[in-house]
Amino acid sequence: MSDTSVVSTQLDIEAIRAEFPVLHQQVNGKPLVYFDNAATNQKPLQVINALKHHYEADNANIHRGIHTLAERSTTAFEDTRKAVQTFINANEAEEIIFTKGTTESINLVASSWGRKFLQSGDEIIVSGLEHHSNIVPWQLIAQEKGAKVRAIPVMENGDLDIAAFSQLLSDKTRLVAVNHASNSLGTINPVKQIIEMAHARGAKVLIDGAQASSHLPIDVQQLNADFYAFSAHKMYGPTGVGILYGKRSLLEKMPPYQGGGEMIKEVSFEKTTFNDIPYKFEAGTPNIADVVAFKAAIDFINRVGKEHIAQYEEQLLTYATSQLKNIEGVKIIGEALHKVSVVSFVVEGIHHFDLGMWMDAKGVAVRTGHHCTQPLMDRFCIEGTTRASFSVYNTIEEIDVFIGALKDIIKKLK
Ligand code: PLP
Repeated sequence: MSDTSVVSTQLDIEAIRAEFPVLHQQVNGKPLVYFDNAATNQKPLQVINALKHHYEADNANIHRGIHTLAERSTTAFEDTRKAVQTFINANEAEEIIFTKGTTESINLVASSWGRKFLQSGDEIIVSGLEHHSNIVPWQLIAQEKGAKVRAIPVMENGDLDIAAFSQLLSDKTRLVAVNHASNSLGTINPVKQIIEMAHARGAKVLIDGAQASSHLPIDVQQLNADFYAFSAHKMYGPTGVGILYGKRSLLEKMPPYQGGGEMIKEVSFEKTTFNDIPYKFEAGTPNIADVVAFKAAIDFINRVGKEHIAQYEEQLLTYATSQLKNIEGVKIIGEALHKVSVVSFVVEGIHHFDLGMWMDAKGVAVRTGHHCTQPLMDRFCIEGTTRASFSVYNTIEEIDVFIGALKDIIKKLK
């Protein structure tokens, strides 16, 4: 039986759900329960309509044209940049670079900053909680430069071992790259402390905010982050849009990431001069329509209120965690004190892929596997987990469906 007394919220969740058309469907004959939000979350009508409006009314290439549609498209594109600036409290809109995702944002820094500033013998510190997107780009540039990648260990409860991090930091450390929140376990990392510790040793810090941007307040100036990367599609926005925040002083010193149109001031066969930031890092025609529609996603989050979202999701997480703990054979991986709304677990004797398939048959979408965090899976001596992750449109009743489905499957398969 559902225990709705555990949830009190100022939000009208039914009204919010009504804004998400995709949620109102049957999957395999059952009402869809979408718990794969850490992979990508669903889009409200506001975002879908903004995309449609752009193509129906404004579509043109940006920055170069002087006709009306080009001006409208350029204004809408640059309005999103300003909305992102406010959303993360960057000092200037020019410090916001559009990419195609967190992955590209991190690769941009690894390639551009890394190529200029890394030398043989230098060290880059990542953490054992990282997504492959925040490991492999550093391995590639480290290999090229003769630098070394080291990793902060993860403790049994899923927290980073900050004492070990302090030991890893040295005069060789040039950059620390950690996530704000873990996609596999949900752990929220003490990024302000990590940044202070790294800066005290003269190292720069990149924060991977892919899992934080729709759940936690982000203030890049208060954090004093050098770089902050995230993806629109994990915050109710379109796919194909990433954001890289970088401090002006750093971005100006970095060479271009890619060459092409837009990123230049003048080109001749003798000498090419590069554009100012942010355009220096935005070669070619960007993903205009999706960037434009991304502003509607930011507006959605601002309208609902990040604090309300966080508070409500925390209640969903607490409820799901307590229900999972009551099931024999279920083991939760990662029980840090501070988590975003992600719960990962294994079930004794049942492979996560089988569990995911049976869940789907019951209309419940969960993620199974290593979640692009194989070193973390190795740390816990497992191949993968089943992960349920919640967004603001999820409900206690859906968690009851998920828990009921899990109990049925365990009974059937054991
Ligand atoms: N970092 C983290 C923590 C993530 O969760 C993800 C995606 O799941 C990424 C990076 C990569 O994001 P994208 O695939 O949008 O580039």
